Amino acid sequence: MLKTELCLLHPGKRKKQHKWFVFVSRIYINNPMQKLRMEALQRKSLHEIKQTEKIPVVAVLENIRSAYNVGSLFRTSDAFLLQSIYLTGYTAIPPHKEIKKTALGAEESVEWHYFTNAIEAVLHLKESGFTVYAVEQVDNSILLNKMNFDPHDKIAVVFGNEISGIENETLLHCDGCIEIPQFGIKHSLNVASAAAVVLWEIVRTRLNKI
Ligand code: SAH
Repeated sequence: MLKTELCLLHPGKRKKQHKWFVFVSRIYINNPMQKLRMEALQRKSLHEIKQTEKIPVVAVLENIRSAYNVGSLFRTSDAFLLQSIYLTGYTAIPPHKEIKKTALGAEESVEWHYFTNAIEAVLHLKESGFTVYAVEQVDNSILLNKMNFDPHDKIAVVFGNEISGIENETLLHCDGCIEIPQFGIKHSLNVASAAAVVLWEIVRTRLNKI
């Protein structure tokens, strides 16, 4: 039924309907901040992303206990075109129901490898020419805002377990440690949030290369 027809049937509702019409038209017609539809975002297909050159940045996950966090990291790594995710220790690996729930398909688009422990992964990365940073709150860590990432560097970042953080021995094998400044009451960030913050900072320096 047309809007005008509705008004004739219910004249008392006319004013209310006019207000509603203005509201709706503001959203759909005049809104300068109209949310972008999927087509406008022009995302690549799974096939296209497999052919796309990635940025030489690797995320290493050590003993992540929540598969939802792993899925979230896949989604972030897809967004930022990471070369790979290294899953280590008891971190869940795809295919996995909970990873799928938060990765929403990114577990298919991001390359991943499994290592029985994080040190093995760190050594492999160093041999392949990566600078490996632990992302952790430790003595002598460098605050993220003080970091000067070289956009030409191959960079790997290690993230640790939700309770115990990165193992001490793994820390000793890293080239440096990055800490995200925090100002509230909580001791640390959720690991997937911490990863999103650090990975964006690294990717930001390479935007003209993507
Ligand atoms: N490290 C904390 C808890 C781990 S939080 C502890 O020992 O109590 C899980 C992971 O998130 C950490 O291992 C680290 O990789 C990352 N993380 C969370 N908050 C962080 C911060 N402020 N700076 C650097 N890394 C952080």
